[in-house]
Amino acid sequence: MEAPPAAPPELEELRARLGELRDLRGVEQVLTWDQNTFMPPGGSETRAQQLGTVERLIHSKLVDPGLVRVLDALEPWAHELDPDSDEACLVRFTRRDQEKALRVPASLAEAMALEAARAYTDWLAAREAGDYARFRDSIARQVELRHQYAACFPEAGHPYDVLLDDFEPGATTAELRPLFAELVARLQPLVDAAARPDLEPNGGVFLGRFDVEEQRRAVVAILRHVGFEEQHWRLDATPHPFAQSPGPGDYRLTTRYSETDFSFVLYSSLHEFGHGLYDAGLPASLARTPLHDCASLGVHESQSRTWENFVGRSRPFCAWLLPRLRELLPGRFDGLDADAMFGAVNTVQRSLVRTESDETTYNLHVALRFELELALLEGTIDATGLPDAWNEGMARLVGVEVTSDAEGVLQDVHWGIGAFGYFPTYSLGNLMAAQMWRRVRADLTDLDDQIERGEFAPLTEWLRENVHRHGRKLRPRELLQRVTGEPLRVDPLLDYLTTKLAAAGFLAPGS
Ligand code: ZN
Repeated sequence: MEAPPAAPPELEELRARLGELRDLRGVEQVLTWDQNTFMPPGGSETRAQQLGTVERLIHSKLVDPGLVRVLDALEPWAHELDPDSDEACLVRFTRRDQEKALRVPASLAEAMALEAARAYTDWLAAREAGDYARFRDSIARQVELRHQYAACFPEAGHPYDVLLDDFEPGATTAELRPLFAELVARLQPLVDAAARPDLEPNGGVFLGRFDVEEQRRAVVAILRHVGFEEQHWRLDATPHPFAQSPGPGDYRLTTRYSETDFSFVLYSSLHEFGHGLYDAGLPASLARTPLHDCASLGVHESQSRTWENFVGRSRPFCAWLLPRLRELLPGRFDGLDADAMFGAVNTVQRSLVRTESDETTYNLHVALRFELELALLEGTIDATGLPDAWNEGMARLVGVEVTSDAEGVLQDVHWGIGAFGYFPTYSLGNLMAAQMWRRVRADLTDLDDQIERGEFAPLTEWLRENVHRHGRKLRPRELLQRVTGEPLRVDPLLDYLTTKLAAAGFLAPGS
């Protein structure tokens, strides 16, 4: 084999420039993490300015003529390399990021960051007061900014494609419309058949009085078994759980505590742990480059869902978890066996709040948000009409009546941080997780027994080898194709849910 051509001297300069850029992204993440955890509310205007400045710095470094020159010099060399090599990917992805950034005026990028930070404050106030009117103007301003942003990419098939691309590179409205239509059409009859309005969420098995500190101790003890280490990880409380990794060695999870229901902290922590594990599995060779990142938010979500649902709500995990819960939270889980717990945590119910919804109805909540974001962008609804459209959609898609904006249109943080085009990644993550889970089960034939024995390392290793180690080097559909040998499909998720609901006793035979 011929040796690859020697690297031009510009490669070192490229790495130095990208290292700074990645550091600024890390700084941005620490600032937003702090904003959502410990910052006093009075700091919000200051923080908005700080985030605006960081965003402007990132933008100016990405479009810097020096970086254009370095990429120009490296491109002919990179073309000769294996397209999967770190260097070829680095040049290709940086050029793509740069071309996107060059289209967007620095003033617009800064206005979007500033407005998003202000919107968060408006959203918090509106949600606390249960008064959408306090958030309405902010939604209108943000939609207007998204129009300006989409106009920077006139070649896009649909303005919404431009927003999607920031979270799920390559995803299009034309692809997602039929996908969501199929998902809704197939989930609704399953929900009709399995829904149990007579039962409590999670069968009521996690209800009781739990103080926050005992919950924290219990959940950290459980997370330690799956891979959480205090040296590198944190777990803090926020109203809307998330995970953030400012860089290698620093994985920050947040969770939410309810004093009357342990399921919130248990499943949201497992979920965010899955996100953290993906970040922790990114290869050191890509550190301080833009490739030390996820393939997409959909792929990120496939990892969190794997731990929250595919592992966390499985029969073998319940069998492993139950004795540990009895030890960690004495007296709360007596009179329950693993089969009963498995049934309980797979209870299907129509509910108002996406983050509290069960695995089966969940994607119906996402379908509504996809529909509404498209309608806002297409102008078929405006900020004023959004709550009514929300309530109508909840009745039609999920089958529930919304009684308050706080539990309706104001329930999610996303539109309060300018994240339009983000929601579909949740369903894409669920679909990809189901497709990957099939592959995992085919490869790890002993998986159920491993989980029941509390051996999570083989699964972590599989995910690291097949998904995490690629970082951002593969586009999401390409990664899925390589891992599963197939394109994005609805069937595996539906098959998985149907099989599980039947095993848990929620489907009549033959239904
Ligand atoms: Zn997530």
